Parts: sequence; C-alpha cells; structure tokens
Amino acid sequence: MSESSAALAAQNYVESIYGQVVSRNPNEPEFHQAVQEFLHSLVPVLTEHPKYQEHGILERLVEPERMVSFRVPWVDDRGQVQVNRGFRVQFNSTLGPYKGGIRFHPSVYGGIVKFLGFEQIFKNSLTGLPIGGGKGGSDFDPKGRSEQEVMRFTQSFMTELYRHIGPDADVPAGDIGVGAREIGYMFGQYKRIRGGHEAGILTGKGVLYGGSLGRTEATGYGCVYFVQEMLAAKGSSFDGKRVIVSGSGNVSVYAMEKAQQLGAHVIACSDSNGYIYDPDGISVEIVKQLKERDRLRISEYVKFRPGAIYQEGCSGIWQLPCDIALPCATQNELDLEAAQTLLRNGVQAIGEGANMPCTLEAMEFFVERGVSFGPAKAANAGGVAVSALEMSQNSMRLSWTFEEVDAKLQEIMKNIYTRSVQAADEYGVSGNLVAGANIAGFLKVADAMIAQGIV
Ligand code: NDP
Repeated sequence: MSESSAALAAQNYVESIYGQVVSRNPNEPEFHQAVQEFLHSLVPVLTEHPKYQEHGILERLVEPERMVSFRVPWVDDRGQVQVNRGFRVQFNSTLGPYKGGIRFHPSVYGGIVKFLGFEQIFKNSLTGLPIGGGKGGSDFDPKGRSEQEVMRFTQSFMTELYRHIGPDADVPAGDIGVGAREIGYMFGQYKRIRGGHEAGILTGKGVLYGGSLGRTEATGYGCVYFVQEMLAAKGSSFDGKRVIVSGSGNVSVYAMEKAQQLGAHVIACSDSNGYIYDPDGISVEIVKQLKERDRLRISEYVKFRPGAIYQEGCSGIWQLPCDIALPCATQNELDLEAAQTLLRNGVQAIGEGANMPCTLEAMEFFVERGVSFGPAKAANAGGVAVSALEMSQNSMRLSWTFEEVDAKLQEIMKNIYTRSVQAADEYGVSGNLVAGANIAGFLKVADAMIAQGIV
C-alpha cells in the first residue's frame, strides 16, 4: 500500500470507530469529545503500524471492560429518603488494577464517568506505573449538606461499591467533591464491611492511616512541574510570570502554591460562582482556609484582602492578561473565545490541571498558534502517579518522606514530558504535546493488549 493510501485507510478506520462510539453512546458528548481528540492523534501511528487495526485495538479500547450503575439511598437531616445514582467504570486493566477517582457533583452521569475513565487509561500509561484505567462518581451534591449527611451518603455509596473494588482489582481515589473527608468515610465503611484493614483499597487516604505524604499536593505540583519543563524548553521559567489558575479546589490550590514557590505572581483563581483578582498576588493560605477548612465561597476572599476584587461568573477569569494559564476546575471551562483572548493578551503557556478543561476548538487553536500546551493526560498525571506510589507504600507497609515522594513526582513528570515530546517527534507532529501524549500513552497499552491476546 502506498503511503498516502495507508494514511487514508488509517483515517477511515479512525472515523468508523468514532462513528460507532457516537451511535453506541448517544447523548454522551463529553465521552465523544475525549474519544475524538484521542483518535485523531493516532492516524500517523495507525498509518505506520497496521497491526493495531488487525488486532482490533481501537474497537476494544473504546468499550469499557465493565460499567456498573447503582442506587445510593440515604436519609437526610429532615428524615427524608434521598436516592442518588452511583457509577464505576472499569475501562481497561491491561497495565494493572483499574485506577481513577470518584467524583461527587450534580453533573455526573454515565457520559462524564466514561470520558474520565477513558482519559485515565492513557494518563496512567504515561506515568510508567502499573495501573489500568477506571473512574467513578455520583450525582450527589455535597454543597450545603451537613457533615452527617455527607457521611451517610458516602457510607451508602461504599456499601454498594465495595463489591466491585479491591486492592488488586480496582483502587479508587478522590476527584471533584471527594477529598480527604469523603475518602476517610469510604475507607471506614469498606473496612467495616470487609472486616480487615486493606490499606491499598483507596488512595488519597489521610497520612494517619496509610495515606502518602505528598498526595494532596501531587496533582497541582505535578502540573506546575510539567509546565516548568515546557517553559525550560523555550528558555523560560515561572520566575516573575503572571499566572492565572481557575478553580480553588485541591488541584488549583497546590498549583498556585508551587507556582509561587517558583517565583510566579499568581493573580487570580475562581470557584463555580465567580473569580477573584488580587494584584498583590493570591494568598494561598487564605484560599485554603476558606475552601478547604471552612467550605465557603471564594467571594469571601475580598473580606481579608481589601486590594482584591471579586467578579461574579467564572469564565471572565480568562480575560485577565497573564503569561501562563492553568485551568484547574472542570471540563470545557475554557472555550475558543477565551483562548483567543488569552493569546491576544500574550499568554505563553497553558497547563491543563483539570481533565479536558479546554474545548477541542480551544486546544486546537493553542496548538496551531504555537502556544506551549500541556494536555491534561500528561500535565495532571502527577495525582494518579503519587496514588500509585501510595499503593506501593501500602504494599510494603512503610512510608516515604515528603521529600522522597516529591522527588519521585518530579522525575515522573519530567519523564512524561520527555516521552510526549519524543512520541510527537517520531510521528511527525513535533511540538504537539496533545498528540505526543496520546501516542505515547496509547503505544504502551496497545502493545500490552496485543501481548495479552483477544480479551
Ligand atoms: P475539587 O472539588 O477539590 O475542586 C474543584 C474546583 O473547581 C472548585 O473550586 C469548584 O468550585 C470548581 N468547579 C467545579 N465545577 C465547576 C464549574 N462547573 N465551573 C467552574 N468551577 C467549577 O476538585 P479537584 O481540584 O480535585 O479537581 C479539579 C479538576 O482536576 C477536575 O477536572 C478533576 O477531574 C481534575 N483532576 C483531579 C485530580 C486530583 O488528584 N484531585 C487528579 C487529576 C485531575 P466550587 O467550590 O464552587 O464547586
């Protein structure tokens, strides 16, 4: 086959797989988006290596190995029965036990869990650690719920989930709406049902009972380490740069903290109601206190910092001029219009701390215009990487120091960057880390799938 007809055949293969995904998973636009972006990157690989088509790799990759959906009944503080829906998708176990977080947010449905689980396969592959891809969640909204309600809901969630997971089978962690508190309640309930202390059943645990030092910081710090590599490749650094970080949750807070440690001037962050702009530099301590400890809105920040301003509506944050933007809140929070504004204002680098925070159009725009772009699969893989290190520590029944974990995290983020750059170079898309990360993540999983036969 000539080179151009091989490329055409690869393109047709990818399009037919994408068509199947859309027709088999109707009304799941986030899942379609994740698959579309991924498949598009693979054309040069499939052109060169027909074996992936011969082994039906794409057909198998886009179909979860297993997906469960379950009822989560619980009683609220008024004594009324509430019913939420829980999910766990066990997408791909080729490289190791399913691994991926649990999200509690009213927007959660099958399509969100599938998009996250699909991305997780390749992100986990990129870490170089032995973990497969999974994800879970519920449409439960923890906002405005009492401690007791959150505990009752979370215990009920685990009462069903426990039968589907295990330290060598599927190891959940946190995500939006699931932090140390919820992980603790889930761990307690699992232990009670199973009648044993299986430390490796969840990651993101408190350090008092088997958690890893550095896990809380890992996603945010890892994202900044990744962007640091991108900047260094262009002879630049965080030092003195104006940085915007959306969100004010786990990923955002620690991305801000690390960026500041590297000399950056972090000027804005947000929550789902609005954003704050602090020309003197965001006080991460105040944000932590408001959001982590007191569970308040980010609007309260201006009470502590008179020079700061609060604006209702979160998308306005992208209109602030900055050198580096780190979207760390949620999917599709940065669209083409925001991307154009950021570029007009001189942005040099983007690091996706959240999962799929840029729309497909925004992402393509940044890549085409030569803005350094760190895609989520690569840039936010630090969290799951340290989760895998937590599993290792649990297996060995010992714990590493913060400095040891942080050093390993830095090494892993550097390797992910290098692998993504090399894969992009090898397949003729130099400088495109979106394609590079997809290709590097894919190759390891696909080759291991071939080695394991048709399963
Ligand atoms: P948190 O729940 O700790 O924080 C989420 C933050 O995003 C909050 O500030 C929240 O605001 C804001 N947010 C949520 N939904 C929206 C929305 N629709 N519009 C604007 N802001 C919103 O979650 P994490 O920090 O853990 O997760 C953030 C992102 O990072 C997610 O995409 C997650 O999948 C991804 N991620 C997380 C990892 C981790 O280790 N935690 C690992 C890898 C990726 P509010 O307080 O108003 O809800």
